[in-house]
Amino acid sequence: MRYLVISDIHANLPALEAVLADAAPFEQVWCLGDIVGYGPYPNECIARLRDLPLTTLAGNHDWAAIGRLDLDYFNREARAAVAWTRLALMPENKAYLESLPTMLVESDYTLAHGSPGQPIEEYIVDLLSAEQNFYQFKTRVCLVGHTHWPVAFFRANGLERMCVQIAPQWNERIKIDTGRWIINPGSVGQPRDGDPSASYALLDPAAGEWEYRRVAYPFEETQARMRHFRLPEGLIERLSHGH
Ligand code: ZN
Repeated sequence: MRYLVISDIHANLPALEAVLADAAPFEQVWCLGDIVGYGPYPNECIARLRDLPLTTLAGNHDWAAIGRLDLDYFNREARAAVAWTRLALMPENKAYLESLPTMLVESDYTLAHGSPGQPIEEYIVDLLSAEQNFYQFKTRVCLVGHTHWPVAFFRANGLERMCVQIAPQWNERIKIDTGRWIINPGSVGQPRDGDPSASYALLDPAAGEWEYRRVAYPFEETQARMRHFRLPEGLIERLSHGH
């Protein structure tokens, strides 16, 4: 089985379409939340995902879009995008976001948006936050999003040492069949690691293999639609730079 692992699509349909085309064929999609927020295609992204064999959960922006997180939680530009998304979302898509869990366990894998300790809000950004979170899930592997940075943290079996951080190698399969892992596939729709192309991963659970991937997409299309809806210029501009 080939699994497509995605996160932080942020209502960016051209990025999502590029990932789906580049990743094919796959049998199952695991999405780690933030389907909406920032971008101009919230309804289209939800509809596209629901056509797929999908397991997904809610992120902080999905919660904000349905009023479960206060606007004060966000900075000025994100707040403006949340307010727009609340108005743009069709009732059936709001209901869909309301139905999403915040954490899931699928055999050997725990899925959470931010972290297994605080699934909606916490950012796993460094060794310390990763180390603390290794105690917050029971499976061997935990998949998270939220930071928009592709990264993996590995903890060897039986060692008292702290976990180590592993930077992604693109288009290369890495073995994750021993030890414990916290892995972030990066962001489909708003990468922040300096590369504007969409970030995702492929997982073969039976072989215990993970592969980071990157695909360019026409971000000008997303930007033009954001301008049409008068979304904040800073959010439009950052898509050109991937930060
Ligand atoms: Zn996000």
